[in-house]
Amino acid sequence: MPALYAVRTYGCQMNVHDTEKVANLLHHAGFRPATDESEADLLLINTCSIREKAENRLYSDLGALREWKAAVPGRVLGVGGCVAQQEGDRVLRRFSHLDFVFGTHNLRLVPDMVEAAGLGERQTMTDEHRSLDRFDLPERHEAFAGTTPGRAFLTVMEGCDMFCTFCIVPRTRGREISRPAAGILGEARALAERGVREVTLLGQTVNAYGRHDLKRGRDAEAGTMAFGALLGELAATPGIERIRYTSPHPLFFDDALIQAHAAIPEVCPHVHLPLQSGSDRVLAAMRRRYTAAEYLAIVERLKRARPDIAITTDVIVGFPGETRADFEDTLAVMEAVEFADSYSFKYSPRPETAAAEMGGQIDPVEAQDRLATLQDLQRGLKLAGNRRCVGTETTILVEGQSARSAGADSAQQLRGRDPYHRVVNFTLPGELPAPAAGTLLELRIVEATPHSLIGERTEDRPGVKDPLRLVDGTTPASRESELPVS
Ligand code: SF4
Repeated sequence: MPALYAVRTYGCQMNVHDTEKVANLLHHAGFRPATDESEADLLLINTCSIREKAENRLYSDLGALREWKAAVPGRVLGVGGCVAQQEGDRVLRRFSHLDFVFGTHNLRLVPDMVEAAGLGERQTMTDEHRSLDRFDLPERHEAFAGTTPGRAFLTVMEGCDMFCTFCIVPRTRGREISRPAAGILGEARALAERGVREVTLLGQTVNAYGRHDLKRGRDAEAGTMAFGALLGELAATPGIERIRYTSPHPLFFDDALIQAHAAIPEVCPHVHLPLQSGSDRVLAAMRRRYTAAEYLAIVERLKRARPDIAITTDVIVGFPGETRADFEDTLAVMEAVEFADSYSFKYSPRPETAAAEMGGQIDPVEAQDRLATLQDLQRGLKLAGNRRCVGTETTILVEGQSARSAGADSAQQLRGRDPYHRVVNFTLPGELPAPAAGTLLELRIVEATPHSLIGERTEDRPGVKDPLRLVDGTTPASRESELPVS
């Protein structure tokens, strides 16, 4: 009976993917996933430090896990991610029931640290490694399916050299380093062979990929290339039908990248383009290195290249010194772009960042009021955008049952995402087998809601016999059992 592991993951897609990498390593070391933490022999917490709330969560989790650890002798508890990278040994000293702490550059050491913990050794490994072998991880174990059937994350670069004044990431993830293209393309091929149709390229500033090598004229030697060229190479991978990337920095949108959205059908018509603020004064204080006008010019070029493109964003309200007029500039940019969606947050000072030391911290009540105003505007923009989709046809990648799914005997509510990254829910009569997660399926959009779209099966066209019109040609019955229950 193999030992069982469980992982709690907080934060961004980078963390979700780091958890997948660790889980895969554990599979190779003979572990298997527990169905519940209560049966796990090993529990890992993959932490996030982007906001204070996320960090506090770790400490309350660790306090509560004393009981979990004491309940079964031999259980192992580890902490990784950005808080681990930043706090290192301090976390280990504060919680005596914690066995090990691993940094964002030390994922490969986890199986060894688990083994050492079994021998009673407590340790912290948070050294930053500049070596490219950090990308050198084993292929997906056959028993490890990844977290999202049909879709996969693919690391192309790590770290960040931008040092925005509010952000802790350059300190927790280290300096920019780009992965050689051969490894990226090889992983894409291996994923496609295992049924992955959609890849999301990951990097803290993903479209900065290869820039240092290109600037120094050593791209050939390093095996990297410009990001736009990398998209073209990936699109040629048989089986890969959709390519997304996150998160880009506005500074690195060159013509090749913008044209990739027009010229490469596999590149999805969606860009997550962090704005952060629409005020030039605040953008300068954030050290974002663009103005609102420059941001809008990128949006215009993207829309010219791909008129139907969906643009989503991140916004911070209440940055130190932000006036009401600055905030209104942000609202104006949001209206001008008509963001399909946005992730908005109140500024939260992070230790060791320049902004934490700035004067003019905003009253939390005022910041909350600005956040509510901004989110209200975004809700309207999103609903208007969703309404414009009604009557169109789209192809979704099925994710599984929707949160509102009915019981097994009645109609089944399923969900997926269209190429624009919009959530589409759809209902199938109970007697029809559900399409497997990871299946591409054509739907007509019949209704818009504030958060998602409602689709229905397109009617059978001449020559199409499958009742579900599966784009990939498989029959639904053949993959029925793969549908995850979320
Ligand atoms: S670009 Fe700025 S916000 Fe993004 S990870 Fe780097 S420092 Fe943080």
